[in-house]
Amino acid sequence: NVRVRFAPSPTGPLHMGGVRTALYNYLFAKKHGGTFILRIEDTDQTRYVANAEQYIIDSLNWCGIPFDEGPASTSLSTSGKGDFGPYRQSERKDLYKQYADELIANEQAYYAFDTSEELDAHRKQHEQEGKTFIYNWHNREKGRLVNSLVLSEEEVQKRIDSGENYVIRFKSPQDETIFLEDEIRGTIKIDTNTLDDKVLFKSDGMPTYHLANIVDDHLMEISHVIRGEEWLPSLPLHVLLYRAFGWESPKFAHLPLILKPVGKGKLSKRDGDKLGFPVFPLAYTNEQTNEVSRGYREDGYFADAFVNMLSFLGWNPGTEQEIFSLEELVEAFDLKRVSKSGAKFNPDKAKWFNQQYLQQKENSVLAENFRSLLVEKGIETDSSYVERVVSLIKERAVFVADFWDLGAFFFETPAGYDEKAAKKQWKEGTGTLLDELSSVINSIEDFSSANIETLVKEWITQKEVGFGKVMQPLRLSLVGALKGPHLFDIIEMIGKEETLHRIQKIIK
Ligand code: GLU
Repeated sequence: NVRVRFAPSPTGPLHMGGVRTALYNYLFAKKHGGTFILRIEDTDQTRYVANAEQYIIDSLNWCGIPFDEGPASTSLSTSGKGDFGPYRQSERKDLYKQYADELIANEQAYYAFDTSEELDAHRKQHEQEGKTFIYNWHNREKGRLVNSLVLSEEEVQKRIDSGENYVIRFKSPQDETIFLEDEIRGTIKIDTNTLDDKVLFKSDGMPTYHLANIVDDHLMEISHVIRGEEWLPSLPLHVLLYRAFGWESPKFAHLPLILKPVGKGKLSKRDGDKLGFPVFPLAYTNEQTNEVSRGYREDGYFADAFVNMLSFLGWNPGTEQEIFSLEELVEAFDLKRVSKSGAKFNPDKAKWFNQQYLQQKENSVLAENFRSLLVEKGIETDSSYVERVVSLIKERAVFVADFWDLGAFFFETPAGYDEKAAKKQWKEGTGTLLDELSSVINSIEDFSSANIETLVKEWITQKEVGFGKVMQPLRLSLVGALKGPHLFDIIEMIGKEETLHRIQKIIK
């Protein structure tokens, strides 16, 4: 019974790496007929951002990878989908203390009373001695630290009763070698002497990430933990926690980092700003600073193209095929084909995917999108006209917005002409030629592209002037530059009157 969870902390917008983690969880769940769960890990109230949860949910929905179980998607209420809720850790708050207590009772955890000043002092002292400070058996039972293992039971109780701040720390084992299994990385060997006694619970009544995460994964019957590589250092503790509770541990898979397109290291928000690509699925406004971050959706990417692109950041199917629908991804996805090494993000490849998807989309769908853009510009045209325009220019488009750059002349008379081209194409006599051509075009009754082409070409042949001498200035007059699709298609599309108008305009 496969049950996987995506467990973001609502500390801000979800970036590409987070969406990739969600996607792989989704693909794995669907592949195995399992359940995809969204759990909001909001125990750290200092980093809580109010609109982040909704952003996360909107992002998953936009990508077309909705969760099967999780918090209610529209408002911050306790109700949601699924029988393992609530799915927000802040709403499960009262649940965690008993598990911390259980570990204390089993002597797998202990109270510690060190203030942050004391801890800093220890750290500094170690530094001066050229050692690293590890809060575990190296220090804890030698009386160097203030904890329940060196204080009498009465003293511990007295401190707790008097309201002194404490934490509950995990008692990591001494002199043990443990073997961790990762579905992607294989066996990882760890010397427990290198592990800190991590904090599990704080006297403010809140569990830390580690305790809440393990307890919830257990209670929600998670079968596979699929998450980013940045959590690999927590794996020893997590495995030890399962052991301490006597629970069966889920299987683990740590996904490779997504790396910057250039240089070294993890992809960051700043890389996007610098190189001009979004790192977030949806545009996001930081409510504190009013800073707006770009989003793939707002930048004109199709959700399916974005998802396809993302699927390849750390995984490949082992074949040449690159275009995969979501269903095909579900079919092909395999944790065994997820790479161990970081995946370099390539913004050009993201565009390439969008271009591929754009070519596959129905012209009517593209035209509908394009039409809203035209409406924004105050241009009202009927859908069939827009659809024909799309069919003529889509080949070179990456985004729907490109249709405007590629085909504005279908909707308005060129405001000016490409200067360089004009200089080169406009010769003595060109005006007279175009004027004559105008009359020819004016006399054409069957105004279809093919017929216009035949008659115009006949006329040019008769004139013995060479095609370029007529066609290039003509294109310049209609398009404003020496670009665009088949000229006679353009003439048919914009119609006789507009064609004549544009020719006369350039002559003047
Ligand atoms: N809350 C953690 C995060 O923000 C979850 C890590 C995990 O999946 O265990 O990514």
